[in-house]
Amino acid sequence: IEFEHLGFPVALCANLKRAGYEVPTPIQMQMIPVGLMGRDILASADTGSGKTAAFLLPAITHCLEQKDAPAALILTPTRELSVQIEKQAQELMFKIPQMKTALLVGGMPLPPQVYRLKQNVQLIIATPGRLLEILKQDSVNLAKLKILIVDEADTMLKMGFQQQVLDIIEQAAQDHQTILVSATIPASIETFAQQLLMDPVRITV
Ligand code: AMP
Repeated sequence: IEFEHLGFPVALCANLKRAGYEVPTPIQMQMIPVGLMGRDILASADTGSGKTAAFLLPAITHCLEQKDAPAALILTPTRELSVQIEKQAQELMFKIPQMKTALLVGGMPLPPQVYRLKQNVQLIIATPGRLLEILKQDSVNLAKLKILIVDEADTMLKMGFQQQVLDIIEQAAQDHQTILVSATIPASIETFAQQLLMDPVRITV
């Protein structure tokens, strides 16, 4: 497959070219069509595989279809990873009208993050603790969420974020698509996946 054959809008295809994405990586070839079909995914993929774009492209597709409320949420274990993902998301959303991201992470002041949420964002990239804090003060509404992505799920569990992730999901729309990405899939991730995913397609590269 090539990116042009996946039916993305012209502006998004142009951004892929600008970012230097000529051909999909193996994980992208497997994940993007399944992601666009709306299926849940359990993917084993590491940094450098192109996993970020593999989940960002289905996420952005949901954002294009719902501009008036957060459509996509990406949860990561660290601020640094969240920052990197937002950077890639903004490259791919470049010049697409109305598309906005919010970065909700700890270790940075809270008020600007809350202010950003008032600007009608579609894509949220967050660490669990900070997002829960913002949910508690009712500054974000996930009732219309279409897709949830949990990146580096193995690190999430190691850092003890499992319950926080489940608490966040409880406040999100019931019928959203979920993608779980992990470098490795030990038994603990299988259990986590059972709590999060419905009839997932398993992808390994
Ligand atoms: P990731 O594994 O998501 O951390 O991505 C690793 C790097 O590969 C990032 O710098 C991406 O910008 C880049 N990348 C992702 N997909 C492609 C692609 N299809 N072609 C070229 N570079 C890519």
